[in-house]
Amino acid sequence: MKAETLRNLGILAHIDAGKTTVSERFLFYTGVERRLGEVHDGTTVMDWMPEERERGITITSAVTCCPWRDHDIQLIDTPGHVDFTAEVARSLRVLDGAVIVLDGVAGPQAQTETVMRQARRRQLPLLLFVNKMDRPGADFAKAVERAKERLHGGVLALQLPFGEGRELGGVLDLVRMLCLTWSEKDQGQTIQESPIPATHMEVAISAREDLCSRIAEMDDAWADLYLETNDLPQDILQKGIRQATMAGELVPVLCGSALRNLGMQPLLDAVVDYLPSPLERPAPEAINPATGASVVVLPDPAEPVAAFCFKVTHERHGELIFLRIFSGTLKPGDALINVRTGSREKLQTLYAMHADHREKLDEVGPGSLLAVTGLPRVQTGDTLCAKKRPLLLAPIQFPEPVLKQALEARDAGEQKKLEHALAILEREDPTLRAAEDEDTGGFLLSGMGELHLEIAVHRLHREFKLEVRAGVPRVSFRETLKQDVTATGGLAVPGEEGSQVNVTLAVLRQEAEAPVLTIAPTSPILAPDLLQILQNARLLQGWVGREGYPIAHVQLRLEDWQTGGERAPSQEMLLGAMQLALAKAFAEESVILEPQMALEVEVPEEHLSGVLADLQKRHAQIQEVEAEGEDRKISASVALSRMSAYSTDLRSLSQGMANFQMLPDGLVPHA
Ligand code: GDP
Ligand code: MG
Repeated sequence: MKAETLRNLGILAHIDAGKTTVSERFLFYTGVERRLGEVHDGTTVMDWMPEERERGITITSAVTCCPWRDHDIQLIDTPGHVDFTAEVARSLRVLDGAVIVLDGVAGPQAQTETVMRQARRRQLPLLLFVNKMDRPGADFAKAVERAKERLHGGVLALQLPFGEGRELGGVLDLVRMLCLTWSEKDQGQTIQESPIPATHMEVAISAREDLCSRIAEMDDAWADLYLETNDLPQDILQKGIRQATMAGELVPVLCGSALRNLGMQPLLDAVVDYLPSPLERPAPEAINPATGASVVVLPDPAEPVAAFCFKVTHERHGELIFLRIFSGTLKPGDALINVRTGSREKLQTLYAMHADHREKLDEVGPGSLLAVTGLPRVQTGDTLCAKKRPLLLAPIQFPEPVLKQALEARDAGEQKKLEHALAILEREDPTLRAAEDEDTGGFLLSGMGELHLEIAVHRLHREFKLEVRAGVPRVSFRETLKQDVTATGGLAVPGEEGSQVNVTLAVLRQEAEAPVLTIAPTSPILAPDLLQILQNARLLQGWVGREGYPIAHVQLRLEDWQTGGERAPSQEMLLGAMQLALAKAFAEESVILEPQMALEVEVPEEHLSGVLADLQKRHAQIQEVEAEGEDRKISASVALSRMSAYSTDLRSLSQGMANFQMLPDGLVPHA
């Protein structure tokens, strides 16, 4: 695969907007799949997820390549549910562009907005596809208007629907001024092009004027031409759209109906025409881990290797590590450094992933996404690099788990198997954490939500054939201090009579920005290598407060140490004494924290008051109630412990008509 003609593409959407349907059309029209897959009516979140997962594995297995017009489009899988936002976050790191699918009736929904924001933050070029234009009530102009509000401008239609709702007959192409229609007979494989009918000429001309005037602004010569001729030729329009899209100044909008096979090929064309190749993207953020200085990573095959692990999966064939190469060239047998652990990792086999098969690779260059075997210690988010150029690509900030659930193996014989299976799940998904439960001898699994945990248990059953007893998901509490404390911890040096290591720690309160215990980089007496160990390792995760909860909103500054003897203390001694000092700081009193959730509820008007009253009972702070078509959208923040059984309650309060999503939004004192 040549980097110039490569498109690393994500399809992002709110649940049910049509992501799976669009992906399947892509595979069909590019000839990868011979039959057109249909999504059956998965109406609820719960029904939808396992199905999506199965499809994700059988059809796309994280990355699928499909050819279009002498280009290779690598489709990268991203789940839509909020419990899996971490998955979206990590996919965004390896995409070069994305198609955001909107429902033509609902417009941009909560999750769409979240991903649009994330994408924008990463300066990711976007296309919008307004799907489901065949649904009664579909309103293209309104969807575009709402997208404009959310994306703060830059949104521009390249197409109009030819009819809306039941009348939808095709798509009006404003760049070529043609009417495109499809036939059901060949499942939309051939496009009929005809002049725009007189009935639609006026709207089409007006929309083309918007397009031309926007592109004319980009270049003086184009502006002159536009003034003279009142129009711009197709090649200039396309050049301008591409340039502005890649700069993140423009988000082109296309439309159609994936289900009815209308508008899919023009969307593929737009991916090739307007989204960048890996060579056209800004260099990723990278630092030298030893010095903190930034490192420029160029997409050059001759540079030392820099690669990023964005996914770990377990399939029939064994474990696969998915990498994106940002610079350099990889070959089977190459050895790289895993910057997080400092260990040397030897690549075994390199594969390009296709829908239903994989292909061995002899050599892979920058921009490529590939799967590798032989890296049992590599985790999602790890940087792999050449020894001669150590660098750390900006790590993914995964949110801290908010719920935990007790898991017990059916019998002692399965205990080891369960431990092994949990380790695999944890490796695949950094927002799942498993720990031994010292009280029961079982395990505690922490995750991002009830659905997240439910699916994990489901997988234990289905993939690992483990019958586990799962407890009720409980809130993951944290602990912090009321104020800054300085404490000293002392530890006797084994084998050296009377000799003791004393460590003085400043235990500093940190507000929201520090969800986990961290070490102050400014610690006056901390050697850089130890600092790096402390910051990299998940070491501090096991350090708990007086109530036994993980510590949050706290930073440790190592102020001083003394030893009785001559030698500096060993790392183990130092850490042990630090832990004792921390325990002293927490000995008097601590504050228990719990996750605060940003909640959005979409509810039909007639059920609004009931839903609001219930939220008040839960001590939610209502921030806003917005009109969203016929529906109302409530934005609120609420402590997670108040939200138990919310999906069931909301269903009965709204006769199943409302839906909601919750995202962790910091920690608040537990009342
Ligand atoms: P996802 O959750 O974003 O992957 O959405 P799906 O592709 O699973 O689609 C959700 C539902 O919407 C399914 O029942 C699809 O058949 C349906 N759907 C998808 N695209 C269209 C469309 O263009 N028009 C209509 N009417 N329904 C669609
Ligand atoms: Mg789907």
